[in-house]
Amino acid sequence: MINTSWVLSGTEEFRLESAAMDPVPKGWVRIRTAYCGICGSDLHSYRGRHPMVRPPIVLGHEFSGVVVEIGEGCSPALVGQKVVASPSIPCGQCYQCTHDQEHICENLMVIGNIGVPGALAEYMDVPFNRVLEIPDSLSLSSAALVEPTAVAVHALRKVRVDGGVVVIGAGPIGLLTSLVAKAQGIHPVSIVDVRLDRLNVARQMGFNHVYDSRESGVIEEIRRVYPDGPGAVFDCVAISDTLNMALRVARKGSSIILEGVPEGPLTLDAVYIQDRELRIIGTLMYQIPDFQEAVRLIHDKAIPVNELITRHVPFQDVPQTFQQLSVGKSQDVKVLVAILPESGGAR
Ligand SMILES: [Zn+2]
Ligand SMILES: [Zn+2]
Repeated sequence: MINTSWVLSGTEEFRLESAAMDPVPKGWVRIRTAYCGICGSDLHSYRGRHPMVRPPIVLGHEFSGVVVEIGEGCSPALVGQKVVASPSIPCGQCYQCTHDQEHICENLMVIGNIGVPGALAEYMDVPFNRVLEIPDSLSLSSAALVEPTAVAVHALRKVRVDGGVVVIGAGPIGLLTSLVAKAQGIHPVSIVDVRLDRLNVARQMGFNHVYDSRESGVIEEIRRVYPDGPGAVFDCVAISDTLNMALRVARKGSSIILEGVPEGPLTLDAVYIQDRELRIIGTLMYQIPDFQEAVRLIHDKAIPVNELITRHVPFQDVPQTFQQLSVGKSQDVKVLVAILPESGGAR
């Protein structure tokens, strides 16, 4: 079987590669990739600024597809199934893996990031135990949003929210965190960003408390929405400005969940943490139950993921699409690469 993939070969450099595939390894399955989302972290990798990702690598960790082949020890019933998969591959041996925290495994490999080729390819191999079947009635396009939705589900599991949340950042992760919070009955949800196009998307999705953080008095304005202050603040941007804003807007004694990936060291007004007894909690990816919950939320239409998908681009347009998204001029929310779209043979 010949596989064609886009290999990130250097900084801002892709090459199309076609090569014969090895047999499917024992305990792994082969997926014909349907859709692959392009994520902010992929753009970091593209620009050579990702702390872990080193070319050459096939990117793509937000994907859906159909199982076409199985390795030894996998259920034959999977062949022909529409699936998604958790891209994190834990070692199963370390302290975290043996204490129900395999998502922060000491030896973590991540499909499309670290150690395993990703979804910007016609075919990809995935460990059987990371695969989740999706209902036939769920479209493969919507299913490509399961991965980022699982990030939001996991972040919200970090705290028991009492009295609404503030979400800083209205990119895909910020919007999904807001949508999952709303689906869980958390109210009010305030959303902060500096990009007016993103704030408009938030408004169109029915969020009324939407703020441009560059405006003066915005912290006081947000705090007025919550009689006792917000129950938690989610920083989905993770730069010094946003984390300091989180420290100022948070209710005393509450938690700030650091959901964005800081690109380098941040400068903090740490006295707020001490004086207000704040907690800053990190969150990384997800565990399998978060993935299952994300499938359920999307399938039940509890969160309208299709409203986040602003574009499908063909497989051959991967390099120019990365280029375009990387310069930051596009108003896209989530772009999906259509590798084998539904009409192309997936059942
Ligand atoms: Zn991602
Ligand atoms: Zn481990």
